[in-house]
Amino acid sequence: MRVFHCDRCEAVLAFDAHECAGCRATVGYVPGDRRPRVLQASTDPSVFHLDAPGDRSERPMWRCLNAAWGCNWMLPVDSGETWCRSCRLTRGRPDTGRPDAIAAWATVEAAKRRLIHQLDEFALPIEIDSASMPDGLVFDLVYLPGEGGITGHLDGLVTLDLAEADDGHRDGLRRRLGEQFRTVIGHLRHEIGHYYWLRLVGQSNDIGVFRRLFGDERDDYRVAVDAYYAGASSTWDRARFVTGYASSHPLEDWAETFAHYLHIVDAVDTAAAHDLVPADRAGMLVTDAVATLPFADILDAWRPISAAVNAIAETVGAPAVYPFEPAGAVVDKLTFVHDQVAAHTKRDRFYANE
Ligand SMILES: [Zn+2]
Ligand SMILES: [Zn+2]
Ligand SMILES: [Zn+2]
Repeated sequence: MRVFHCDRCEAVLAFDAHECAGCRATVGYVPGDRRPRVLQASTDPSVFHLDAPGDRSERPMWRCLNAAWGCNWMLPVDSGETWCRSCRLTRGRPDTGRPDAIAAWATVEAAKRRLIHQLDEFALPIEIDSASMPDGLVFDLVYLPGEGGITGHLDGLVTLDLAEADDGHRDGLRRRLGEQFRTVIGHLRHEIGHYYWLRLVGQSNDIGVFRRLFGDERDDYRVAVDAYYAGASSTWDRARFVTGYASSHPLEDWAETFAHYLHIVDAVDTAAAHDLVPADRAGMLVTDAVATLPFADILDAWRPISAAVNAIAETVGAPAVYPFEPAGAVVDKLTFVHDQVAAHTKRDRFYANE
């Protein structure tokens, strides 16, 4: 992610800031600009104007209805909506009488805003579920204490067990399943990978290339995934699969690879935004150059950063930030994901038949 600065005092602004820590200006994230901006109060306390020269003509904005639970995203007053671009994608919300459920939901929504921001940076379309788009995107964040909720994707519906927001619970699952790491943003990036498979690959001419790299996605899904869980272990062929779970089925391999692609790109861009990449790459943000940048260059930038942040984590006794070293066919698969995303941004259109 980029480093954002206050329009007024130049202080660094956090992605999720409601107020500038430098000058105390009121701020909110403006999805159309993909950054937090200073807001100017109006006579109506719920209505704001963007604080910058030339912005007077812009539509007045208000905060998302979920602002009380941490959402700092804005939306135009005349849009007729009450929730922001990200919150609107979630179907149903926990009962406000359940503080544990609300806290877990707010944690997941915060991670989801980072996801939506990254997808918008790539200009990957996000089509909300509707009568005309029955396989559009919608999130179900479910809270079923004691029942072992289910996390997964089906025809645009992403279901996430809110128990995954609990660090202890999630880490227990991670250890039991022999996983290297398990994070809320990782879940969201994996599930959105399923959503994009049909759109980027399944409807494209590259389905043959996909099958050569990942395998045949028409193999029985339930049988494959059940067999994987029956024998899940912490060892797998790292030259073939990015994670152990990726080996369970070609579609899970794609979703895992897609998630790791988003991890790597966001990590490289964040390092670049903090001037932590070599001078010859200074200022290079993958999301600005995705259509022309070869994946090999992104991976070359990532390897020394990954080694450094893992070593730094070790010095303070924290777990490795990114305990993976993409090699062999994993690099080919990550390159395939990159090429699909790049081809999409060049195409500028999503459905070939639209
Ligand atoms: Zn400021
Ligand atoms: Zn919101
Ligand atoms: Zn999956």
